[in-house]
Amino acid sequence: MAGVILEHVSRVYPGGVTAVSEIDLEVRDREFLVLVGPSGSGKSTTLRMIAGLEPVSAGRIWIDGRQVDDLAPQRRNIAMVFQGQALYPHLSVYGNLAFGLELRSQGGRWRRMFRGLLGRREPSDIGERVRQAARCLGIEPLLERMPGELSGGERQRVALGRAMVREPAAFLFDEPLSNLDAQLRVEMRRELKRLSRQLEATVIYVTHDQAEALTLGDRIVVLEHGKVQQLGEPDEVYDRPANRFVAGFIGTPPMNLMEGRIGETESVRATPDDSPLGFAGAGWSAPVAAEHREALAGFVGEPVVLGIRPEHVRIVGAGPTGPAASAPVDSWPATARVAAIESLGDSMAVELELVGQGNGDGQTSATVWCKVEADGKLNLGDRVNVWLEMRRAHWFSARTGKNLYAAGGVRG
Ligand code: ADP
Repeated sequence: MAGVILEHVSRVYPGGVTAVSEIDLEVRDREFLVLVGPSGSGKSTTLRMIAGLEPVSAGRIWIDGRQVDDLAPQRRNIAMVFQGQALYPHLSVYGNLAFGLELRSQGGRWRRMFRGLLGRREPSDIGERVRQAARCLGIEPLLERMPGELSGGERQRVALGRAMVREPAAFLFDEPLSNLDAQLRVEMRRELKRLSRQLEATVIYVTHDQAEALTLGDRIVVLEHGKVQQLGEPDEVYDRPANRFVAGFIGTPPMNLMEGRIGETESVRATPDDSPLGFAGAGWSAPVAAEHREALAGFVGEPVVLGIRPEHVRIVGAGPTGPAASAPVDSWPATARVAAIESLGDSMAVELELVGQGNGDGQTSATVWCKVEADGKLNLGDRVNVWLEMRRAHWFSARTGKNLYAAGGVRG
């Protein structure tokens, strides 16, 4: 297997659409790299340029140390698998798996002769390679079946097997699981990850599904408007999103993002500790946690976006008479009204309308989503006490979208 490098790669389609803009990327040998982004962000175009199915408008691509951007797809030694990939309907599973190998071995008469002269192994017995791949994928009992006699998942495995038997330098996957049902998708995800480890394969995998990206990727690349927004390990991207876009795109329910200003505390109302800095949102305010103050001190008066993940908004008791809970460190209390409840299966997403603090009229000021246990006894309209874990907050510039804390080098 081998690494893949993209250097300043761009693609402008005839008609002027810039689908990919100056992407730099280094996919490591044996890495599982996921390209993730919303529809139209340039994922497929990037993959297709690596495969050679789409020309680059600018930049260079290397596979296994060889510059390939001028090479035809079949000379790049990569295998591509995409969603709903067609199998040869008139060939058995065995025939489908062996087809490419037989073609190569027929077309490679001279290559075979040279191999023989050099004493190299003939691309081992085709039958053995096919059976090995089939064993690995758990489809050995299906080798004699025709594609029409297979389920969606089995067909996808055969498509995968066809790529595997070729022993390519890298596998390229374009949303290969998106037309499978949810349960099978989860199963195939696990299988793909296991297989890629077993084969020590370099994999570049495209998906629009951020949960899939977080599960599968050794590292993930978040794309938007044809540009890399962030490249990092899943935890890193989740915990330290580089900008507002990544923050909102990665994670479900999405991160709460609220616009406001950073101010001296006198101007944003008093805070429970002696925080000299606060955040003033629409009708409510909160202190800036100790670990963020240094990074935010230079942004007093600036429009910012406060981000809090739903799991960092905690309901600590219903109603004004609810049980008094001790505050998590550096958290900020608020009262809220339950505005919506959605089941997530093992948990619930709850929409809370924060009630304006200190302004006496109890007016609603902002909406946040939180995540609670599925058995949480909540009803629409309930008044609850909540704690916002301000030390887990994210801060973004409202002008540039950049993360003012994580990207500022303070934490990472
Ligand atoms: P993704 O895979 O992230 O959905 P694509 O790479 O397919 O995104 O597309 C990126 C952008 O390029 C989109 O704006 C899309 O409309 C445009 N695009 C894709 N293919 C073509 C094409 N053949 N001609 C012109 N524009 C295209």
